[in-house]
Amino acid sequence: MDSRKIVILGSTGSIGRSTIDVIIAHPGAFEVIALAGHSNIDLLEEQCRRLQPRYVAIADSSKAGELERRLDELSVEILSGDDEIIKLATLKEADIVVNAIVGAAGLKASLAAVKAGKNLALANKESLVTGGPLFPELIKKSGARILPIDSEHSAVWQALACGNPEEVQKIILTASGGPFRDYPLEKFDSITPEMALKHPTWKMGRKITIDSATMVNKGLEIIEAVALFSFPADKVEVVIHPQSIVHSMVEFVDSSIIAQLSRPDMRLPINYALFWPQRAESDFGKLDLTRLKQLSFEEPDFRRFPALKLAYQAAKSSGTAPAVYNAANEIAVDAFLKGAIGFVWITDLIQAALNEVELVAEPTLDDILSADRQARELTTERIGKVTPC
Ligand code: NAD
Ligand code: MG
Repeated sequence: MDSRKIVILGSTGSIGRSTIDVIIAHPGAFEVIALAGHSNIDLLEEQCRRLQPRYVAIADSSKAGELERRLDELSVEILSGDDEIIKLATLKEADIVVNAIVGAAGLKASLAAVKAGKNLALANKESLVTGGPLFPELIKKSGARILPIDSEHSAVWQALACGNPEEVQKIILTASGGPFRDYPLEKFDSITPEMALKHPTWKMGRKITIDSATMVNKGLEIIEAVALFSFPADKVEVVIHPQSIVHSMVEFVDSSIIAQLSRPDMRLPINYALFWPQRAESDFGKLDLTRLKQLSFEEPDFRRFPALKLAYQAAKSSGTAPAVYNAANEIAVDAFLKGAIGFVWITDLIQAALNEVELVAEPTLDDILSADRQARELTTERIGKVTPC
């Protein structure tokens, strides 16, 4: 196989770093042609020295000068600002664009990559959640592919290979249940960011870790599955599986359930996406089945995690509703991490935004961006009225 030319957007984050681990573990298989991050110039500098990309982009333009000074002796072109990052997603020579940016900030880069006909290895689920209605048309025109990195969707993608689309009965997404699966409901008011940032099975960025604690993450993943696999929301189920070994399942019409198992390590689904349609050797998720004490599955508690119910509501409304769900959550999570609001407020704020922002059923990109903006403004305004906790 010729080496595949890769662009990594969000290279300094958890998924970005795991992507680089996969690349380093397979010398000669990949050539990194561009990296992009928000503001961590120390890590961008280190990654440029190691991987020698042709381009590096930094979203925070105020740091571009310092990065340029540090990389003076390398032949890497330094770019800055959101527009330049989006341009990297369309580089003519790129075979694969990895989008590991966090939040709706990743949407425009995903759209650009798909418009340019790239293979988009997608960790940034918020792209599909917010821009879901826009992708099918673009994919049809350009022949682009979305290769999911999210572990549940990678598992479903692998399981789907065992049958034809019309033979699929349901998609079953697994969820660890996060740190508060068994925590007394009456104490949810006193959950602190420090407690919520301790995920029992996965090591991830801060935003997705809070999303896992509220189960908004699973809500986003329900919507992601609907968009990615063109599947109705009422046929996407969630089961709690605290061990995070079965990453998701597909039930076929003959009642067979096909599951994908590994240790919880994101380098495994990244490895699968980067080498697709081949499978390449990897030790990342190696599992010794004889050492597993238990694999358990239970129904989610919608009272404990109302974010799940809201996600089904947003998925069924479709149009701009998922963008509103996502935007209100992004603002609320940021406020929770800063200590401005309590944990249970996150879901309340999503609910309020879904009630207030008017739905556009068949949205354009402008409609989606407008819904996103309105949800952010409304949520910020509401948070402004809260007495700090
Ligand atoms: P992270 O916070 O660790 O990293 C985010 C990356 O995005 C960083 O490189 C940051 O510099 C960059 N970034 C942030 N804002 C940006 C902007 N405006 N422009 C350009 N770059 C920007 O997050 P993460 O945990 O790596 O998650 C990344 C994405 O992958 C999220 O959408 C998350 O939901 C998804 N995901 C993560 C995991 C995981 O295990 N971490 C698993 C599944 C899916
Ligand atoms: Mg996931």
